[in-house]
Amino acid sequence: MSGVRRPLVAGNWKMHKTAAEAAVWCDAFAPLVDGAAAEIAVCPPFTALDAVAAGLGATQAWVAAQNVSEHEAGAHTGEVSAAMIAAAGARGAIVGHSERRAMGETDTVVAARTRRLLDHGLTPIVCVGESLAQREAGQTEAWLTVQVRASLAEVAPEESALVVVAYEPIWAIGTGRTATPEIAQAAIAHVRAVLAERLHADAMRILYGGSVTPDNAADLMAQQDVDGALVGGASLQPEGFAAIVRASA
Ligand code: PEP
Repeated sequence: MSGVRRPLVAGNWKMHKTAAEAAVWCDAFAPLVDGAAAEIAVCPPFTALDAVAAGLGATQAWVAAQNVSEHEAGAHTGEVSAAMIAAAGARGAIVGHSERRAMGETDTVVAARTRRLLDHGLTPIVCVGESLAQREAGQTEAWLTVQVRASLAEVAPEESALVVVAYEPIWAIGTGRTATPEIAQAAIAHVRAVLAERLHADAMRILYGGSVTPDNAADLMAQQDVDGALVGGASLQPEGFAAIVRASA
């Protein structure tokens, strides 16, 4: 961590927890992070956004959706707009998670969703990351260069600090195969260098995501360019997620 950027620990619940289950999680989590230094974001399913916003209202944590439509409104069955997530209590959204990119979400769509969030005063958490085949073929940096440039193409320089980027190597997500701190640092330093071509990269938080646990979080977040973590599975248990928040100190 750099010391100038405030660490952010975000939890991505994926397709887990009803609103009632989310309320129970919040009751357990809130006292565990009382006074914690890190910024915290919790990303529940759309149907639990308002329950988490209410449940964490007295804490420093904010709520984000896991996705958002690139459209403002209209005939887009099954989509949820930026205005809707904001009204449900969200202050941002994950965009371009690899599980969504695997369903066909392109960099162009990710860029449009990022733009839509910014237009609504919401924080995009933009995910990028390479596959195992790309890493083994020595293509990681080239891939990240393309993905970062394209996914953030609609962000203006003066908006830099409003955007969070998450480096999530696909081979590390949900696999228990965490990137080493050195791999995370090298990739994130590269992402920052690409961002710096056009944006104020020193003001941008870049998170590491991929099998972060209470045991490995401190070493990962101690790296110079790693400004926090995007946590999937380990965010489902309040105690484990709170331990990761504390590890960022
Ligand atoms: C994620 O879903 O963004 C993620 C990093 O998952 P996990 O922590 O379970 O690997």
